[in-house]
Amino acid sequence: MASHENGAGTQDVLLEIRDLKTHFALDEGTVRAVDGVDLDVRRRQVVGVVGESGCGKSMTAMSIMRLIPPPGQIVEGEIRFHRPFDERPDAKDIVDLAQFESNDRQLRDIRGNQISMVFQEPMTALSPVRTVGKQIAEAILLHQDVNKAEARDISIETLARVKMPNPEQRFDDYPFQLSGGMRQRAVIAMALACRPQLLIADEPTTALDVTTEAQILDLMRELQAEYDMAILYITHNLGVVAEMAEEVVVMYLGKVVERCDVDSIFYNPKHPYTKGLLNSIPRLEDVLQDKREKLNAIEGMVPSSFQRLSGCAFHPRCPDFMPGVCDEAEPQLIQLEEGHAVRCHLYT
Ligand code: SF4
Repeated sequence: MASHENGAGTQDVLLEIRDLKTHFALDEGTVRAVDGVDLDVRRRQVVGVVGESGCGKSMTAMSIMRLIPPPGQIVEGEIRFHRPFDERPDAKDIVDLAQFESNDRQLRDIRGNQISMVFQEPMTALSPVRTVGKQIAEAILLHQDVNKAEARDISIETLARVKMPNPEQRFDDYPFQLSGGMRQRAVIAMALACRPQLLIADEPTTALDVTTEAQILDLMRELQAEYDMAILYITHNLGVVAEMAEEVVVMYLGKVVERCDVDSIFYNPKHPYTKGLLNSIPRLEDVLQDKREKLNAIEGMVPSSFQRLSGCAFHPRCPDFMPGVCDEAEPQLIQLEEGHAVRCHLYT
């Protein structure tokens, strides 16, 4: 598992999300993609967000970046970002990203500069008709007081930092001329060109083969330490969480159901959903011993996005379901001990 040297005392808050709700009002009903999320990221901390498809982890990231596709919108909650020192008279230390209009100057100043994002599929982040270098330089010119020649130099230096082979030559390449791994390195370079305080990585290695995935994970760990930045790492892969994160947030149907340090998630999980996710990981010893047993999948399916279940949203799939309790009252996120919170009636 990842080793983490930052003690809580040396870490201060960078991002505080409180009761965030991002809903999509559709003709068929309302999709509550994010439904009351609380989440903190401290400076230099790597927080992993895990859960099945449709649990709201990517939409939480899109809400922070204010890139929610229509008709989605933030209907409630706060996304407080603690900005680095800015001497401009109108600059605030703490801004609520949820309050900005999507084209607000302050938001544009933060997005791609102080907070940036790496997406799962690099071709969605890169324009196919412009060279990789121009796209990185554009982000630098937008946010930094430099001329074109300086932006080119910074771009090539950043490409070298992300270990792109022949960075000067790659600067003039189009995305289609790069392999999948190189494209993802280019996207990471674009995200890091302005040295953000927070990098949001949304399944950045899912589209890559396992060897390239391992290289990109190593690279991200190195860059996180070198750039002194925090990472919000979104993934469905608990193996990646063990490698990368120091704190883990487990989401189910738009809510945080468990939050704790990475060791507790693997050695002392509390929520039945977290236990189910862990049980469904194939074990190396079973593969080595050629055991051909069925994988332990979580029973049932994630309910339809339009369905509103009474009580605990996980109750139709939960092996610990308590009739008359779990299907009636909605559990709240409670603090079991310092740094470990869970949303389940088993603990109330
Ligand atoms: Fe299972 Fe009940 Fe806990 Fe929900 S509240 S996870 S149904 S035990």
